[in-house]
Amino acid sequence: MQKIIAINAGSSSLKFKLFEMPKEKVIAKGLFDRIGLDEGKIKIEYNEKQSFEKKEHIENHSSAVKKLLDLLLKLDIIKNYAEITGVGHRVVAGGEFFKKSVVINTKAMRQINELAEYAPIHNPANLMGIKAFKKILPDAIAVAVFDTSFHQTMPKENFLYSVPYEWYHNYGVRRYGAHGTSHRYVASVAAEMMKKPIEKLKIITCHLGAGASICAVKKGRSFDTSMGFTPLTGITMGTRSGDTDVSMISFMMQKLKMHSMPEIIYDLNKKSGLLGISGLSSDMRDIEEKKKTNMRAQLAEDIFVKDVVKYIGAYTAEMGGLDAIVFTAGIGENSSQIRELVMKRLSYMGITIDEEKNSQRGKAEFISSLDSKVAVLMIPTDEELMIARDVQTLANQNEDTRAKKYVR
Ligand code: AMP
Repeated sequence: MQKIIAINAGSSSLKFKLFEMPKEKVIAKGLFDRIGLDEGKIKIEYNEKQSFEKKEHIENHSSAVKKLLDLLLKLDIIKNYAEITGVGHRVVAGGEFFKKSVVINTKAMRQINELAEYAPIHNPANLMGIKAFKKILPDAIAVAVFDTSFHQTMPKENFLYSVPYEWYHNYGVRRYGAHGTSHRYVASVAAEMMKKPIEKLKIITCHLGAGASICAVKKGRSFDTSMGFTPLTGITMGTRSGDTDVSMISFMMQKLKMHSMPEIIYDLNKKSGLLGISGLSSDMRDIEEKKKTNMRAQLAEDIFVKDVVKYIGAYTAEMGGLDAIVFTAGIGENSSQIRELVMKRLSYMGITIDEEKNSQRGKAEFISSLDSKVAVLMIPTDEELMIARDVQTLANQNEDTRAKKYVR
């Protein structure tokens, strides 16, 4: 029995989920928040119902990792550090270096660092998490799982922008996409639920959370995705604009008397989307609550639904057909209203809703009726489980290689 921990390190936070593998049982999960700030927060849930919470200063990522492991010991979740045999780290940008998850060595760490120019906030934070665990658990296998690597299978016609080719060739400007681990996970669960090999399916996965992206998954591989060079583009999001016309940027910079690009990029990232349109909130729950009495809240929902419908139409055409649509993440998993609005607009495809199943929450389910021409599913995403599975696969491969060397 192995214990594998999945880590998502942000600039001032560290989220974790500890699994018992291969049972895929969650033994503990939690968050170390406000790292490096005046008052840190620690929360751990374990043994299904128990929880531990504390406020204390957390100096840096190394001390967060040390505190985390000591708490796992103290709460009797592990008996010693060596029980944790693998650590999987979410890394945001993998560029073109990383087409799949990898065991982290010095070269991989250098490349993750080099890729920081594509994800200046995230990659350095991810690297801090990696270094902190390497220091305290040097014998555990460390694996990097990239948000972008699932999308590395996109054909060139789908990942290139129509800009001077040298921008791509010399500087790596292209569509990288994001949420790859989530799209990969829900597409594989959909194929299992449909009892068909994923290689025979055309699936569109809709990861609709605070950040949102849509992915065309053809034969089990990412074929196209709505996020681009950065996670700013694609569909309307909580606070991000999604697709816009870049010429608007210089126009608005003049109008708003802005002097630097970061100012307007900030507005597109933080003041746009549902928040920007409604002027009320970035949270779909608020939009749904207010839409009856507030025209702009209604408009925000209309634009969100239209964007999802538009991408589904485009990706169906690109793939030359469609077998299934999957809804996942905060909005996709919880808002039966949004799912219903999208599905109703897709009735031209022969999509019909099972209203009762669509109103349920929690577990993966078909939400289209039996006669629907395209299956529609709600599947809770589990990026951490996917990370733990990748760690286990790579750990097993390492074992196999070692065994072969020994036999020789
Ligand atoms: P995520 O980024 O996947 O954690 O999703 C967070 C977003 O999901 C929130 O900002 C909300 O917009 C949305 N959300 C969560 N619960 C609900 C709900 N019950 N109904 C509608 N939207 C929800």
